[in-house]
This record gives sequence, structure tokens and C-alpha cells, in this order.
Amino acid sequence: MTVTIIRDCTIFDGHDVLDGRSVVVEGERIVDLPDNGASVSADQVIEGNGRMLMPGLIDAHYHAYTPSYDFYGIDRMPVPLLTSHAAKLLTGALQRGFTTVRDAAGADIGLWLSLEEGLIEGPRLFYSGKAITQTGGHGDMRRRDYIEPCGCAYSGALTQTVDGVDEMRRAVREEFRKGAHQIKVFISGGVSTANAPLWMPHFSSEELRCAVEEAEKRRSYVMAHCHTDHGAKQCLEVGIRSIEHGSEVHEHTAQRIAEAGVFVVPTLSAGHNIATYGSELGLPASALVKVKEVQESALKSLETNVRAGVKLGLGADLHGHRFHERQAMELVLRAEVQPPIDVLRSATSINGELVQMKGELGVVAEGAYADLILVDGDPLADLSMLLEPQENMPLVMKGGRVIRNTL
Ligand SMILES: [Zn+2]
Repeated sequence: MTVTIIRDCTIFDGHDVLDGRSVVVEGERIVDLPDNGASVSADQVIEGNGRMLMPGLIDAHYHAYTPSYDFYGIDRMPVPLLTSHAAKLLTGALQRGFTTVRDAAGADIGLWLSLEEGLIEGPRLFYSGKAITQTGGHGDMRRRDYIEPCGCAYSGALTQTVDGVDEMRRAVREEFRKGAHQIKVFISGGVSTANAPLWMPHFSSEELRCAVEEAEKRRSYVMAHCHTDHGAKQCLEVGIRSIEHGSEVHEHTAQRIAEAGVFVVPTLSAGHNIATYGSELGLPASALVKVKEVQESALKSLETNVRAGVKLGLGADLHGHRFHERQAMELVLRAEVQPPIDVLRSATSINGELVQMKGELGVVAEGAYADLILVDGDPLADLSMLLEPQENMPLVMKGGRVIRNTL
């Protein structure tokens, strides 16, 4: 096995900073973090020259299959075209230093195999299959004025409608059959589709409990699109492990979330982008009204969650090529509320735990996968340097393989 040493680094290991260390990589994993003085024989030596070495970033709310905000158009797009868009987005993510992404709607076994077989150069992918919504829920991508001739359930490129406990059980089992890593459900309205108002609860607790029960049989978990405090309480009630967005969580609920060890994945850039560019994105008029509500509460909710000590993951929730290029904006926006080191912990070790790879992804540690980035400058002082990876990120490594080295 090839042994690589990255010498003389300041290491942010996903938790804390270690000075004057090197990293030894054997095959796809890290085997040692010796002091600079130690002599190690290696096939390949990379000089860090004191730069900061970090775990590759993890985006825990990613969308490989949304090249734009035109969800109706995506459903009608030829699959090879949609896949080609996904390939471009994923390759871009890896080049930006995101070595792992967790997809929240649509990514599937085909895309995963393309990555595994090296047909697409991209991050590790944790996929949910088609996200599950109720008829008329946020993820029901049919236009309201479209009359379904057969009255059938809906199944599109990203999502599917499911109603009742039995259908839920079948849908969840079906996604796991096709290799899903986790299950995604919608349990409140959302901003970018017109079907459901933000405040609207989705699904009965029986339906959601069934999804959680089936996921647990697979030693997996459910992630839930959820803006409201009511929804967050329902997540706690039914055992959902990952609350996506969580933009209206109140103090008492935040404390309960923290006690339960449930994760919240705020997605600030999604709101930021819709609020800034909404009218040119062709979103329904309702989206521009809803996004104001979400924007006002999202930062407050984040502060509440931080105060309560909630485990906060990090996810950008981007749709459209132009926004993916600024994937690291999520970290910059988070730093409005949290110190940069906490934001980086969310994007690395906490997200690693969220994708059930604690100690293996999102950390620089013995035994972990060698998913690593080397950065010029100090992200602990200013995270905006991550917005310019071509200039400030001379090395990207995934599973011990050099993806980019401009040193
Ligand atoms: Zn999303």
C-alpha cells in the first residue's frame, strides 16, 4: 500500500487544533499523526510548510439532482441530462473541498454506483432515495392546477407521495432495498413550492413512527424537512434523528432537542439565496413571502439552538449550479452566530457523526479515512477564505488519493 506523509502542518482535527504535526496515510486511511521531528519512510512526501490541514468538509444537506429551482422542469428532464448535471455538481463539490455530501432528495443507487466505480469524480455520497411527502405536501412537485387523470400517487425525480402507514412502510423498505443510507421525509411546509403553507403539519405521528421503526431495523435513521417548532416537537415525539432547517425552534423545544441528542441542520444559504435572487429564479410568488418569514426566524432559531447546546450539523441546501459554486457560503453565514471553530466542527466531526461515520469521517485521526484538505491562511480567523478554493486550498485528498495538488 502506498504510504504518503503530509509533513509540518497545523492540524484542525475536527475538534481542536494541534501544532507541528504530520499526517501519515496508508492506503485510504490515516495511520499516524507523528510530531514533526519523527522520521517516517514514505513513498510520497507532501510538504505542508505550516499550513492548516483539516478534514474534508461535509455538506449534510445537499441536492445532486437539482441543477436549478425549476422542480417541475427537473421532473421532465431526460435522465441522462439530469445525471450529467449531477456529475458536474458533484465534481465541483469535491474540488471545493467537500469530500462527503448527504443528499436530501432524489440521489440514488445509480448515482452512488457511478461515484463508487469512479465514473464520476465526486465526494462520498450518502443518499436518501426519493424523499417522502404526503399528497399535497411540500415535496409534492405537481402544480396545483394539474389534474391527475388516474388520481395516482406521485413519483418524480426527487420525491414521492405516500399516504397512510402501510404505504409509508412499503416506501421506506423500498428505498432501503435500493441502498438508501437514510430516509428523508417532509413534516412541514416549505419555501420553494406552493403546495403547502409553512405552518402546515405533514403526516400523522403513526406514519412517521412507522418510517422511524423501519429505518431503525436497518440501523439507519430519518431526516425530516421541518421549519416549525410544532414539527420539531413531532420529531422528538416519533424519534426522528435529524431536523433539517429547524428555522422556528423555540427555547424549550431546543432544550429538549439537546437532551435527546437529536441533530439540527440549519440551512442559512438556502434562505439567503431565495431572499436575494428569488424573483429571477422563477419561484412561485408565495416563496418570496415565505422566505421573509424564514429569514427572520432562522438566525434567531440558530442562536436558540446554540444556547441550548444542540448538536448542529451543517448543510447548504443549494439548488442551481451558480449557487453551488458558493457552497462554503453556509459556513460564512453560520459565523454570524457562532465562532469559526464551532462552524468548522459542525462541517466536519459533527456531520461525520450525523452520517453515522463518527471517528471515520470529518476527523483527522488514526483510523479515519484520509479525506483531507490543506488551506492557505487561517480559516479559524476568517471562513470566507473557503469561498476561493482554487486559490486557498492547494491540496484536496479523498480516501488517500490526491484529487488536487497545486503546491
Ligand atoms: Zn433541501
